[in-house]
Amino acid sequence: MSRKFPAGVATGTIGYRQFSNMQKRIDLPFRAVNVIGSSNVNATLETAAMLNSPVIIQFSNAGAAYNAGKGLSNDGQKAAILGGIAGAKHIHTLAEAYGATVILHTDHCAKKLLPWIDGLMEANEEFYKQTGKSLYSSHMLDLSEESLEENMDISCQYFERMAKLGMTLEIELGVTGGEEDGVDNTGVGSSKLYTQPEEVAYAYERLKAISPNFTVAAAFGNVHGVYKPGNVKLTPKILDNSQKFVQEKFGTAEKPINFVFHGGSGSSLEEIREAIDYGVIKMNIDTDLQFAYTEGIRDYMSEKAEYLKAQIGNPEGDDKPNKKFYDPRVWVRKGEETFSKRLVQAFEDLNNINTL
Ligand SMILES: [Zn+2]
Repeated sequence: MSRKFPAGVATGTIGYRQFSNMQKRIDLPFRAVNVIGSSNVNATLETAAMLNSPVIIQFSNAGAAYNAGKGLSNDGQKAAILGGIAGAKHIHTLAEAYGATVILHTDHCAKKLLPWIDGLMEANEEFYKQTGKSLYSSHMLDLSEESLEENMDISCQYFERMAKLGMTLEIELGVTGGEEDGVDNTGVGSSKLYTQPEEVAYAYERLKAISPNFTVAAAFGNVHGVYKPGNVKLTPKILDNSQKFVQEKFGTAEKPINFVFHGGSGSSLEEIREAIDYGVIKMNIDTDLQFAYTEGIRDYMSEKAEYLKAQIGNPEGDDKPNKKFYDPRVWVRKGEETFSKRLVQAFEDLNNINTL
């Protein structure tokens, strides 16, 4: 099968920029999949290779710590750093063998979690010295709780260091509502949930001075998690307003900003497509995949309940062994299968099939 991009982890300016340009030209955003360990990492590699589509694999801070194991202390972000490094090396080792083309990314990093990114940046620089590639393709810094100036001061500081390795930075302006990984924004005032075009222009100006390789997670009423429809209304038009504002202010080409869509679980296909029209190049999926993974295991556990009560003895006989039913590889795989099925749908929703 011919492909424009090689299998493996795409790092550096060439990989990410070419991707971004390609994705943008045909108006297809990347699917960015949140992972927590080898099981859903492998299911993502398997699915992306099967679909012949590029994928962004991302660890959240808590996801990276989980990958290191719940039993390891996270003092000083130790587990999150080591889990992030181990997860990245797992993907570097396997992506090419699967035939998957992967952009490797980390999700939200608030100010108090910056020691996590400090640790990963050291690992990036070390890996770059050894291989000529950064360990991660990109990181997100989410300093949206700070003032806009402080958000940009800190982001630029990290971005200068990342740019030397050809890495891409994702920032957040405004606040994604809802709750994810222990970060609870359910009480945030509604004005913070909608990013202003002036804020986007300010960020654009500061970041552009360092490198063109950045993306912006803007708030347009998007919410982490799935809830009953409430007060916050998804307003993708905000992205369009920002694009036009920046285009006019700096005399750029159309859609100068590469936007990221967080909290898309539960959004309608129509809303997703509208956001894509306004320059979204990366769309995250986490909550819907968590549910899908659990569904496969839930159904297996209830169907096979009578085979899982003891090591020996089931409806077929009191002396029948149950090993082939309770082996965790059997039921973990059921979760991977339903996860993969939901992920295929997520790629289809974006028309991102056979795009490598
Ligand atoms: Zn998010």
